[in-house]
Amino acid sequence: MSQRMPVVFVGHGSPMNAITDNPYRASWQALGARLPRPEAILCVSAHWLTRGTAVTMGHPLETIHDFYGFPPALFAEQYPVPDARAFAQATIDAIGSTRVAVDTEWGLDHGAWAVLKPMYPAGDVPVFQLSIDATQPPRRHLEIGREIASLRDRGVMIVASGNIVHNLATMRPGAAPYDWALEFDAHAARALEDRDDDALVDYLRLGRAAELAVNSAEHYLPLLYAAGARRDDDTLEFFNESIDLASISMRSAILASA
Ligand code: ZN
Repeated sequence: MSQRMPVVFVGHGSPMNAITDNPYRASWQALGARLPRPEAILCVSAHWLTRGTAVTMGHPLETIHDFYGFPPALFAEQYPVPDARAFAQATIDAIGSTRVAVDTEWGLDHGAWAVLKPMYPAGDVPVFQLSIDATQPPRRHLEIGREIASLRDRGVMIVASGNIVHNLATMRPGAAPYDWALEFDAHAARALEDRDDDALVDYLRLGRAAELAVNSAEHYLPLLYAAGARRDDDTLEFFNESIDLASISMRSAILASA
């Protein structure tokens, strides 16, 4: 039996974090060195939204540069990984509540590779992605998270990649965090500490702070997969507890069996 693998929620922020020598990238490097080595990684990224749920079933997976206006060095980044199709199939089998589509077109978007390449620079861990069904309400994402939790006992680490607070329109380099960003980030942190999944799902109850912090839901929703895949005896550890660019929360969390 393999050791139960952790769930990690990573605030990924700017794509430049993938290649910039900064504390975020350093934390991802440290994470890969510290966590138990997985047989495969299932990544739920804010940057793969679909109608219906899908898994990547291609090999090799393309490194997708799904951004604009960044330097050529970032577009030159590649992250080839070993064949993960058997684990993708196990994920289809684990999700009984909906038919999971097989996708042979999508590769690894920057929500995945920008974080995973620093974590596992040798590229020797199989990686695949599970998409976010953009047509579904928040609770469904938590429920699918619960269904994939069993994969953790089969050597699969779950890495959910987004940002708890993510408002591109209000970003201000060098500025102090907005009050609403701090408020919503603290709300989510408290809900995780209290294992209050309802508070995570019903985040709009927080009103104006939630509307500004989660002004488009895709960066928040990966957190619900992580919360869903959590086990009762998992410990919770935060890292990168900071707000970047005034409106991007980099707060990240490790949920691991003690
Ligand atoms: Zn992003």
